[in-house]
Amino acid sequence: MIRSITLALGIALVAGLPFIAGNLYYLHIATMIGVYWVLIATLNLLVGFTGTLSVGHVGLLAVGAYAFCILAGTFGWNPYLALLAGGVICALLGLLLGLPSLRLPGFYFAMLTLAFGLIVSELALAEQWLTNGSVGLQAPEFPAPFNTPHGLYWLVVGIGGFITWMTWNLARFMWGRAMVALRDSTVAAQSVAVPIYRTKLIVFVFSGFSAGLAGGLYATSQSYITPDAFVVNVGIYFFVAIIIGGRGLILGPFVGAAVLAALPALVGPLAKYGTFFYGLVLLVVVLVIPGGFGELIGGLAARLRQAPHKHTSVVPDLEKLRHAITHAHDYGNARAGVALEAEKVTRRFGGLVAVDAVSLELRPGEVHGLIGPNGSGKTTLLNLISGYYSVDGGAIRLGTRELTGTGVQPRARLGIARTFQTPKLVRALSVLDNAMLGGWPDVRSGFMETAFAGPRPRREEREIRARARAMLEGIGLGDVLGRRAEVLEHTAQRFLEIARALTMRPDFILLDEPAGGLTTAEIATLGDIIGVIRDAGIGVLLVEHHTDFVFRTCDRVTTLNLGRIIAHGLPKDVSRDPEVVRVYLGA
Ligand code: ADP
Ligand code: MG
Repeated sequence: MIRSITLALGIALVAGLPFIAGNLYYLHIATMIGVYWVLIATLNLLVGFTGTLSVGHVGLLAVGAYAFCILAGTFGWNPYLALLAGGVICALLGLLLGLPSLRLPGFYFAMLTLAFGLIVSELALAEQWLTNGSVGLQAPEFPAPFNTPHGLYWLVVGIGGFITWMTWNLARFMWGRAMVALRDSTVAAQSVAVPIYRTKLIVFVFSGFSAGLAGGLYATSQSYITPDAFVVNVGIYFFVAIIIGGRGLILGPFVGAAVLAALPALVGPLAKYGTFFYGLVLLVVVLVIPGGFGELIGGLAARLRQAPHKHTSVVPDLEKLRHAITHAHDYGNARAGVALEAEKVTRRFGGLVAVDAVSLELRPGEVHGLIGPNGSGKTTLLNLISGYYSVDGGAIRLGTRELTGTGVQPRARLGIARTFQTPKLVRALSVLDNAMLGGWPDVRSGFMETAFAGPRPRREEREIRARARAMLEGIGLGDVLGRRAEVLEHTAQRFLEIARALTMRPDFILLDEPAGGLTTAEIATLGDIIGVIRDAGIGVLLVEHHTDFVFRTCDRVTTLNLGRIIAHGLPKDVSRDPEVVRVYLGA
């Protein structure tokens, strides 16, 4: 609702501008807002959605601008073709820059983009044969009807609108959830098989393309370009625009872009303080409202919509849950039936052997308890099985399939789901969106297919939404579907994690201390839920401290101490094992 209103207002504003703006100077400013918007709309996907910081987009803008002037001017290409070529060149540059750096921590990528921005403006100055150095290049016009100030405005607005539509589609379908997930919780994103590196790379290439287009449009609307138009400051302004508008919103940064383009005109005689002002705005926003204005408004709206905080107990509907799980499994699931096996796995941290030659077999339709004192290696073993850690010895297998060398995402795709000792949710997303992330392994729609809102992403969206909703209703979170995950109480967070894992239609689910922080009644409820999961044929690994609960719920129990198995077998035997009583139960 709020989104549609913003959209309508935005469109009205954009369409009305040339009429409000009586004089050409204002129209020129409006055109510049559009040009910046073409770049910022997709930069916002990168910075705002995936949380990847690039300060070098000014370099891409410059390359796009020069490519346009050189191809359409010097070589006499058709201007549309030159514009497109600029976009493609920048997309390729994005690929070139992103391939080596996006795997590294974000800091390296930011530095690389900064270096790129600096190099481009230096090259534009130095390579006179191509760029005419500091004298600059004349920018060609587009053919009629886009060769007048009004015509150009409409061309820019048209392209900006189209790109905004694409970013909006990307944001509202599964790709959008994946992007926000890898920003807010990489660990959670991995657990549902979101490819971190590939997603960032695709977004960067896409934003490179639109930065290249923006460059061509920039050149033609300025009529003339010189290297000093592309100093690194400009790259920082783009970033400021996104910060002002707020990350994670599609139209938020539009406000930022408007401020950016209009400011020099508005302050006029104070123009020389422009940079100072941008710096000040950045500082104030980062200090006072870290998420930007958009985030502030979004957060307030979310708070207004939500009922005042009261303790709500999570009451599952077990029949509904049973039905949801069975139904999800029926739907095209050809896996299952084999055991998930860890064979003599070992993991060291420096001199410490956290897990020492541990073997464990998780069978479908069985609850396997894993207990032991703090630091005995339970979480480490779970991380080895789910792929977060690599083994130093031994093997992980799914049936006859070797998983040992694979990462988290391939295992998630094979039906191994998990929860975390401290819940890992995507704070900024709603409860329903968080659960829907579990549908990611089923997403076949590509990035571009989603950007164009093709039939497949629409269908997948519907299916995954229905499945996630059914899981949430079954698990007792049906009343809070629209609530932001960050405002959920602890128990609800734990249950939401389980719902997300179940939405993956897993064959195995690994639960790391799911009863931690729950009341006795809630633990009993959790036991019921685990019973339903088991009865549906899913294998459960239950890491727990509440031993009564474990002995009551599990079919088999393994006890660790100092990374080694000290007892293994039926609950009644393990609970009486003298060694277990001595190191663990006795205390
Ligand atoms: P548990 O879950 O049984 O409480 P963990 O598996 O978390 O135990 O830890 C087992 C041992 O391994 C502990 O001594 C812990 O300090 C150590 N450990 C776990 N993860 C790491 C890590 N990433 N780096 C270094 N040491 C670790
Ligand atoms: Mg642990």
